[in-house]
Amino acid sequence: MLIVKKFGGSSLATPARIIAVARRCVEDYRKGDDVVVVLSAIGKTTDELISLARQVADRPPKREVDMLISTGEQVAAAIMAIAMSALDIRAVSLNAFQVGMKTTGSYGNARFRRIDTDRIRHELEDRKIVIVTGFQGINKYDDVTTLGRGGSDTTAVALASALQADACEIYTDVDGIYTADPRICPNARKLPEISYDEMLDLASLGAAVLHNRAVEMAKKYNVTVVVRSSMNRNEGTVVREVTGLERMLISGVALDKNVDRIAVIGLRDEPGTAFRLFSLFAKAGINIDLILQSSGHDGMKDIAFTLADGDADEALELLEKNKARLRFRTAEVQKDVAKLSVVGVGMMSNPGVAAKMFEALYNEGINIQMISTSEIRITVLVDEREGEHAVRAVHDAFELSE
Ligand code: ADP
Ligand code: ASP
Ligand code: MG
Repeated sequence: MLIVKKFGGSSLATPARIIAVARRCVEDYRKGDDVVVVLSAIGKTTDELISLARQVADRPPKREVDMLISTGEQVAAAIMAIAMSALDIRAVSLNAFQVGMKTTGSYGNARFRRIDTDRIRHELEDRKIVIVTGFQGINKYDDVTTLGRGGSDTTAVALASALQADACEIYTDVDGIYTADPRICPNARKLPEISYDEMLDLASLGAAVLHNRAVEMAKKYNVTVVVRSSMNRNEGTVVREVTGLERMLISGVALDKNVDRIAVIGLRDEPGTAFRLFSLFAKAGINIDLILQSSGHDGMKDIAFTLADGDADEALELLEKNKARLRFRTAEVQKDVAKLSVVGVGMMSNPGVAAKMFEALYNEGINIQMISTSEIRITVLVDEREGEHAVRAVHDAFELSE
C-alpha cells in the first residue's frame, strides 16, 4: 500500500506532538507500507510570518511573501525527518523544488500544473519515508509559490492522485467533519461520510477543515479522502462520490468571517453599470461573491457585494481611481460581517429550507443583510458579532445534533 498522510500545524505544535506524529507514520512504514507525509508549518508559523511582513511593509510584494511563508513548511518537513531519524527510521524531507511540484504563476493563490513523481518513487524504493512540504510549489521561473491559506491539504490530495496512492489521510485537531465547526457548536455531530459536492460547498463557504481546492481536486481525480484526528484513533469522516447513507436534508452549517461588504452608492440606473463595475474587479483578479442590487429610482441605484477581506482595500482603491468613469456617489466598506451558509443535497427536493433558516435567525433577533441561494445551499450575510450565535441557532433549528 502507498499511503499519503497529511498533518496540519496544530498537530505539530510542540516537540512532543512532532514525535507522536513521527511514531504514527512509522507504524504504517513498519507494516511494510510506502509512506508519504505532507506537512503544514508548525503551529501558527504562517500567521506569524505574515504578520512579520506587515510590520515592515504596508503592502509586501506577493513574490516575497510566498518566499517567506513557504519556509514554515520546510522547517516542519526537516524537523519531522530529524524526529524520525531518532526512531532509527530512514526518512528524507523534500521541498517543492526538489520534488518538482509545478504550479501556475499567481503568488499566494497558485494551482498545481504538474507534479514529478520520479524523486519520490526513487526514495520510496529505497525504503525511506518521504516527507514533503505542503502549501508550496514552483512556477515556470522556478520561483516559490503558495497555494492559498490551508493549501497543504491540496498538496496531499495532488500527491495522492499523482502517485495513485491507496489512501489519502488528512490528520487534524478534530475527529472529522462535523455538521458545524465543533469549536463554535459543541453539539455538532460527526459525519461518517460526506459527498465531494457538499464538502466543496462547506469548504468554500468557510469550513476550514479542508481546503476547497483539495476537495475540488479529490472530486476531479476521484481520490477518497479520510479526515481524522492526529490526537486519537477515532474513526474519521470519508469524503467520496456517492454516500451510502440516506441523503440528509442538511449536511452542515458553515461560517466565514473573512469577508467584507462593499456598497457602491448612487450609480446610474442604466445598461452597462454592473458590467463596468465588475469587469474592473475581474481584471484585477478580485473575486466577488454575493451581489445585491437595489431597485432603481430617480435614475439611480446602489450595488453592494461581498469579497474576501484581504481584497477590500485594493477594491476600494480601484473604485476611487475609476470614480469618474463609473459615476457613483460614494463607496463604503463594512468589515464586521460574516457569511453563514447551510449546505445539503437534500435541499433540492425539500421546499421550506430557506424559510426555516430565516425563522431561526428571526427568533434570535438576527438581521439578514444579504441572501444568496443555489440548489444545495443557502447563504446569508449577518453581523460578524452575531455569526457564531447564528450558527448555533440554525444548527439547532435543523436538529443536526445527536
Ligand atoms: P490543520 O492545521 O490541521 O490544517 P485547520 O485549522 O486548518 O487544521 O482545520 C481544522 C479546524 O477546522 C478545526 O479545528 C475546526 O475548528 C475547523 N472546522 C470548521 N468547520 C468544521 C467542520 N464542519 N467540521 C470540523 N472542523 C471544522
Ligand atoms: N501553513 C499554511 C497555512 O497556514 C498551509 C496549511 O496550513 O495548510 O495556511
Ligand atoms: Mg488546514
